[in-house]
Amino acid sequence: MAPAPERWIDLRSDTVTRPSPAMYQAMAEAPLGDDVYGDDPTVNKLQARAADLLGFEATVLFPTATQSNLAALLSHCGRGDEVIAGARYHVISSEAGGAAALGGIVPCPLPITAAGSMAPGDVEAAIKPDDPHYPRTRLVCLENTWDGRVVPPEDIHAVQAIARAHGLALHLDGARLMNAAVALGRPARDLAAGFDSVTLCLSKGLGGPAGALLCASAEFAGRARRARKILGGALRQAGLIAACGLVALDHQVAGLAADHANARRLAEGLAGLDWLRVDVAGVHTNMVFLDLLAGDPGALTEYAAARGIKLRSRRSGMRLVTHRDVSAADIDTVLAAFRGFAAGRPASAAE
Ligand SMILES: *Cc1c(COP(=O)(O)O)cnc(C)c1O
Repeated sequence: MAPAPERWIDLRSDTVTRPSPAMYQAMAEAPLGDDVYGDDPTVNKLQARAADLLGFEATVLFPTATQSNLAALLSHCGRGDEVIAGARYHVISSEAGGAAALGGIVPCPLPITAAGSMAPGDVEAAIKPDDPHYPRTRLVCLENTWDGRVVPPEDIHAVQAIARAHGLALHLDGARLMNAAVALGRPARDLAAGFDSVTLCLSKGLGGPAGALLCASAEFAGRARRARKILGGALRQAGLIAACGLVALDHQVAGLAADHANARRLAEGLAGLDWLRVDVAGVHTNMVFLDLLAGDPGALTEYAAARGIKLRSRRSGMRLVTHRDVSAADIDTVLAAFRGFAAGRPASAAE
């Protein structure tokens, strides 16, 4: 076993970011209250700030984006109602079936287009007529960014138009919506427009230690607060988390552009290796996807770990995620490690 390096270059996800010095300072100084009584001034400030940023009346702070999405679905749908969403969107594939398990909400998973949306024709065809045989289609859910890709606004508008024509509600899982906004150079509220509710995660690339925001109308926010209580309640002196959220939204959005540049540099460097295939064109934000043409992802992961780099393999491939705790110099270290790894060589010989 190699000794643990003092500082890992951790490319497993952007969830691994640590609070910045400004966040620690903000936590130390934040005025606090009890958010269950609604009187934590720092939570209220963050919620107002997020509502303004995304163009909604109200915002509710959640511990996680998973809980924010679930509370949104529970607020949009009753038991036996149906949500249409991409089969590999987080709400369908990565939230432990919470909407079905706790809300009796029927998932209708659809194929995801190469651009990260759903085909308008697929959405239209999936909407059930008013017939007692069928679940009642209630909600359409999109995700942006999807696998690090910025979903084209026109694709989103096409799905929104169909949902509206059928009287359906629209939820956006915008866990990484600020990455999309920075990549497009557009205000986040433009990308949130046309949705009834939007989830934004504070603990991904924005760098907060925890927290997510659900933006919606004031009436919907009230229902989402009730759902949050059903899901286990709310945090009391949540201003500690909200203080970090304010630093994230006020000071750590612009830095996402550096994460995107690092991801691009990483992808372009990896493109020179003949034992893997990397999707350079698909790098819109902070994620790089690659497939190994030879060699074992597990061996590569071990080889990298011995050099202070944390990777996570998925099937034949890998997703590498850049974030504020990975520097441009770190990208050079990672590229050197990939060059040093000879595909197919047993891990025991890698030293
Ligand atoms: C990470 C993620 C979530 C869940 O976020 P947590 O705060 O970790 O629960 C939801 N949706 C998407 C698209 C995500 O990437």
